[in-house]
Amino acid sequence: MNEIKNELTEYAEKFTSDESSVLCELREHCYAHYEDKAMLSGFVQGRVLSMFSRMIRPRVVLEIGTYLGYSALCFAEGLADGGKVITLDVNEETNKVARSFVAKSGYSDRIDFRLGPATEIIPTLNETFDLVFIDADKPNYSNYYNLVFDKLRPGGFIIADNVLWSGRVLDNEKDENTQALHDFSEMVMADKRVSNVLLPIRDGLMIFCKTETRP
Ligand code: SAH
Ligand code: CA
Repeated sequence: MNEIKNELTEYAEKFTSDESSVLCELREHCYAHYEDKAMLSGFVQGRVLSMFSRMIRPRVVLEIGTYLGYSALCFAEGLADGGKVITLDVNEETNKVARSFVAKSGYSDRIDFRLGPATEIIPTLNETFDLVFIDADKPNYSNYYNLVFDKLRPGGFIIADNVLWSGRVLDNEKDENTQALHDFSEMVMADKRVSNVLLPIRDGLMIFCKTETRP
């Protein structure tokens, strides 16, 4: 999941407001210590997620795929008063690191970490979501979408990351993850209950709004 890094990306970075010092430290910690560093949302995408959250002012965000807590902290910046981010992951090691950064962020009372397979945790959640971020294992994207849909309020949003999969969605021969992401996009395009737009930033963000009908 390489991001397209070119002069225009650098230009976009230059004209994007700074992240908090904790987010900057977390990103640098990731780049220095983790091989799968590209899993972290990154600077501009993080600012986009924060900006979406500030536009929506969600009471409840569900994030599927915490990793080091970078995107959870970005969403937390836009929460309504008393709002929270529930974030799911299976990895204990990265979850510990995420908790340690959240602890020093000032958002610890607004981020609710749950450890375990998302397909098992989602059915136990009784909240109504205003915003859902799908960013865990790619073969389960369609399952996650179906599992959260009835818990999303009408007018609520879903954001799915990595839907371009470094451009591999265009390949004729698709591996399992690529095929799953392509099938996911096909499935949601046929879903009359949502409006969606594929934003080709970074590795591709698919944004959905839950509506009654689509013209
Ligand atoms: N949202 C983060 C990145 C998430 S990376 C950010 O933007 O910074 C994807 C995460 O999904 C990894 O931490 C991985 O452990 C987690 N994951 C993989 N399979 C999962 C599953 N079945 N349930 C929950 N989390 C899972
Ligand atoms: Ca991602």
